[in-house]
Amino acid sequence: MNDQSRERFSNRSLKQIETLHKDLQDICEVAVTLLPFSVIEGHRGKCEQERMNKEGISKVEYPNSKHNSLPSKAMDLVVCIGLPYPSNDAWEYLANIIKFVGKTMSVNIVWGGDWKENPDRYHFELQESVAEIIDETKLSMDR
Ligand SMILES: [Zn+2]
Repeated sequence: MNDQSRERFSNRSLKQIETLHKDLQDICEVAVTLLPFSVIEGHRGKCEQERMNKEGISKVEYPNSKHNSLPSKAMDLVVCIGLPYPSNDAWEYLANIIKFVGKTMSVNIVWGGDWKENPDRYHFELQESVAEIIDETKLSMDR
């Protein structure tokens, strides 16, 4: 990440960014020059995933969250406009920027705020490529 972008993130965000998939890191690097935001979570380990699942914060069990891979294929962000309660517009603006920057890098991003069931505005993840899905199907057939 270049110094100009690095300066715009807190140390806490930078620590989380280190755990992200390279594509997500690249998106953060560009997106933060357009709009201020924080990265509150990247990789999430077994213990934390089990706790969040138990408390109903996360619907999925370890290791099925995209936060559970290392590097992480998911990131939780907070838009830094109108804190502590950013408006819907601010969230949508962040989501559009993240998706747009991804598109310029041929990376498709899924925003949790678009989910019909249990929308999660903090959450952004890499859309699985067709190749990956086929690969996983093959793996499960092998087992
Ligand atoms: Zn998330």
